[in-house]
Amino acid sequence: MTSHPVLAFIGAGNMARAIIGGLISNGYPADHIWASEPDLSRLADLAAQGLHTTSDNNLAVASADLVVLAVKPQVLKSVAQDIAESTQTHKPLIVSIAAGILSSSIDQWLGGNVAIVRCMPNTPALVQTGASALYANPQVSAEQRLQAETVMQATGIAIWVEQESQLDAVTAVSGSGPAYYFLVMESMIEAGKKLGLSEDTATQLTLQTALGAAKMAASSDVDPAELRRRVTSPKGTTEQAILRFIEGGLPDLFDTAMQACNDRSVELS
Ligand code: NAD
Repeated sequence: MTSHPVLAFIGAGNMARAIIGGLISNGYPADHIWASEPDLSRLADLAAQGLHTTSDNNLAVASADLVVLAVKPQVLKSVAQDIAESTQTHKPLIVSIAAGILSSSIDQWLGGNVAIVRCMPNTPALVQTGASALYANPQVSAEQRLQAETVMQATGIAIWVEQESQLDAVTAVSGSGPAYYFLVMESMIEAGKKLGLSEDTATQLTLQTALGAAKMAASSDVDPAELRRRVTSPKGTTEQAILRFIEGGLPDLFDTAMQACNDRSVELS
């Protein structure tokens, strides 16, 4: 195998394009990447970048070392069954990013005994700041784990979980997490407006504060709880707000909300 495995993306929609974009900007050779997609208008710009493009999923899979299944969950079964024969011939690693579809189902549709990595990405992958969690079934080799990691790190961080069921908790943390932060932003903007700021000013300050807090937390050697304590002086202004959040039950509310998200993820898979 070459140092750059041949990749085939089945489905060239938003997620696949985000990953491909990240790979190309990281220097991955375009001629080692296939994209297969029935919507030809989605392939032109990828072909112009030097990728192999086709509407024939089996052709894309034929020379691939790693196949990324990047179609919607509802079409995954028919897509997998259609490429089963080609994948059984040379056994590429299969990476599925489809939400809620178990690796055992994919394995069965592909004819059995297939190396599968199931991945739960999130929408910030679209701006190369994604958080993906990956689960490998027992057929996946150490080398294939590294290959899957390289692909998913093209859009941000990639973290392994050892049990597939943990992907439900991942859904509750990072999969659905961006929406929680959007809700916090919405609420802060509204509260800022009530306090007399213009919408534009409240929005700019809220978004930059979210970005700054995330950057500080990500680059700090102490945890977020300690960072919060450091900016909360006794009898100061921040303390007044934090006390209201805690009295209002915010930590418990996160517990309840994320448990509900986890339960729904279990129900859907
Ligand atoms: P998308 O609709 O943008 O892309 C799917 C692509 O698959 C489309 O371009 C479609 O034309 C193509 N397609 C349809 N039938 C096909 C077939 N038979 N063969 C090949 N291609 C076919 O969807 P997306 O947002 O990129 O999501 C892709 C997967 O990623 C989904 O399974 C979704 O659950 C998962 N996912 C997405 C996000 C997200 O933030 N968008 C987050 C987590 C997981």
